[in-house]
Amino acid sequence: MSQARLMDGTALARTLVADTAERASALTLRTGTTPCLATVLVGEDPASVTYVRMKQNRSRAAGIESRHVTLPAATTTGELVGALRSLSADPGVHGILLQHPMGAHIDERAAFEAIAPEKDVDGVTFASFAAMSFGLPGFVSCTPGGIMRLLDAYGVDPAGKRAVVVGRSAILGKPAGMLLLARDATVTYCHSRTRDLPAVVREADIVVAAVGRPRLVRGQDVKPGAVVVDAGYNPGNVGDVDFDSAVERASLITPVPGGVGPMTIAVLLEQTVEAASRQLGVTGAAPGGRAQRIQAL
Ligand code: NAP
Repeated sequence: MSQARLMDGTALARTLVADTAERASALTLRTGTTPCLATVLVGEDPASVTYVRMKQNRSRAAGIESRHVTLPAATTTGELVGALRSLSADPGVHGILLQHPMGAHIDERAAFEAIAPEKDVDGVTFASFAAMSFGLPGFVSCTPGGIMRLLDAYGVDPAGKRAVVVGRSAILGKPAGMLLLARDATVTYCHSRTRDLPAVVREADIVVAAVGRPRLVRGQDVKPGAVVVDAGYNPGNVGDVDFDSAVERASLITPVPGGVGPMTIAVLLEQTVEAASRQLGVTGAAPGGRAQRIQAL
């Protein structure tokens, strides 16, 4: 069998960000208000500082204003909730991103729930998860949203397919499975207690690996012709799929890096502009509503 075609997340993210920048600029011209994303960081974890800076830079480049709130590592849950509530009530802020994970002393759930659902552009609140699960308007978790965009862009229709999601975290595996289910896939979740993971993976027409274990999914377990999406990102730029063997059996596969990774920020920016549009009373195309097929890639 010939090698799988690569799903190029870098190129798709570029298209999506360019589209978003156009929308941001049109919205600013029309309303006199620039879409604004507030980022909130507790403490100074170097990786989190880098992620937040990247999100701010990419926002600005797309014509989205960026407001940053840094809180000391010793911030209590109550203080963080207070800061998030005031951003939620601030009409000049349209989207809120709370960088996580945070210190163990913080009640992460209480903090997330202080984000107004209409500004939850990272899709972390109960309301966003429920809306996504019921197929109602709202904001999705950005990485799973990015995965669905990649599938759409490469013409993969999940309807009727067996989808196996390896990993069930609240921000990645679980919502990825819910989005596939909403698109009529038959979804199986695998996790650390799954018996005989390879046997389950062998059934999959679509495999989503979201585990955080380097090369856990082996090519020999990929059904010939399956679509393989690797959301994993491990030290040394290694994914959760053994790329070299999986590329020989899959029909489509995401590389690491350059597959799922770049899509996350692209979806965050798109959802920020969508949030601003809704809050400013300007209705446009909803995220996912526009054709994003990039067959030409
Ligand atoms: P997580 O919260 O640690 O969750 C890992 C999941 O994998 C859990 O559900 C766990 O099962 C399951 N798991 C662990 N070992 C397993 C095994 N041997 N067999 C089957 N399942 C196993 O991780 P996460 O936040 O979802 O992230 C997963 C990966 O995606 C990481 O590599 C991370 O860096 C990457 N990631 C990438 C992006 C991006 O591209 N932008 C964004 C987020 C995360 P239990 O539930 O039973 O513990």
